[in-house]
Amino acid sequence: MDRRDFLTMSAASLFTTTTSSAVHAAATPVRTQAPGFYRLDLGGTEITALSDGSIPVPLDSLYSNTTPARVRTVLDHAFIGSPADLSVNAYLVNTGDRLVLIDAGTGRFLGPELGLLPAALQSAGYSPDQVDDVILTHVHADHSGGLILDGRPLFGNATVHVNNREIGYWLDRGQRTKAADRDKHHFVEAEACLGPYAAAQRLRGFSDNADPLPGFGSIWLPGHTPGHSAIVVERGTRKLVLWGDVTHGDVVQFGEPSVTIEFDVDPQQAALSRAKAFADAAEHRYWVAGAHIAFPGIGHVRREKDMFGWVAKNFSRRGLL
Ligand SMILES: [Zn+2]
Repeated sequence: MDRRDFLTMSAASLFTTTTSSAVHAAATPVRTQAPGFYRLDLGGTEITALSDGSIPVPLDSLYSNTTPARVRTVLDHAFIGSPADLSVNAYLVNTGDRLVLIDAGTGRFLGPELGLLPAALQSAGYSPDQVDDVILTHVHADHSGGLILDGRPLFGNATVHVNNREIGYWLDRGQRTKAADRDKHHFVEAEACLGPYAAAQRLRGFSDNADPLPGFGSIWLPGHTPGHSAIVVERGTRKLVLWGDVTHGDVVQFGEPSVTIEFDVDPQQAALSRAKAFADAAEHRYWVAGAHIAFPGIGHVRREKDMFGWVAKNFSRRGLL
């Protein structure tokens, strides 16, 4: 077949396709997405990004140490409106002998647009009972809510690991009493999510910067919550740092790490931890996974003049990190 034949044939098949699609044009739009997972490989270790969903969030009124108008301007410059869609991501690490989930999604705490982690997990080929350990970056319902379903542990065989300071703060009735009214629900939710695991002797604390499990490190990045910790997975020369809530979104706080958010327990300290995390990631050039960076939330941090920028990983079927 010469080039002309090929072109003629292509034109003919195009014509046929156009004609036949016109015949089937009445198909109803489906409008739903497939459960979101993205398989990655870090030096031979399988890491699966799991989407708990995404939800429109009024970032202009949630960010602090800035103004709503400033936030809207910066978002608009990135072609994002407010409310902006914010992802909730979790990550499953298959070490070969253990299945370890980093953060657990929202469960039933934040409405039906979220709470999709179990479906994503199932689509990725795993069941909750197979999970050996859950490591939490911190205790907020968008990370720990998915631990339970109808008041019982969803992960029937898993031990939950979290920085000791999180257990000490969120499960302390004195702290709950002292908290502002608008923050009390965090304490109630923490008890609901961690309580069943604690009762079953399956809640373990780890110290600042300690390894929660063999093969998993942590970096204490306090402020958002007292024990907020990034989780580190390193295999050979490859390194992935799972950030938790170092940022909410991938635009505003990269340009201005000093911008904080309503849910920060200690906003000033959170801003310091964020600046430190950005500088470290940019300098050492490792992969980063953000719980609220657009799904799958995997990429790099780079310096841009006097600020930082997020560079998302491009899509590849092999998913090599
Ligand atoms: Zn969060």
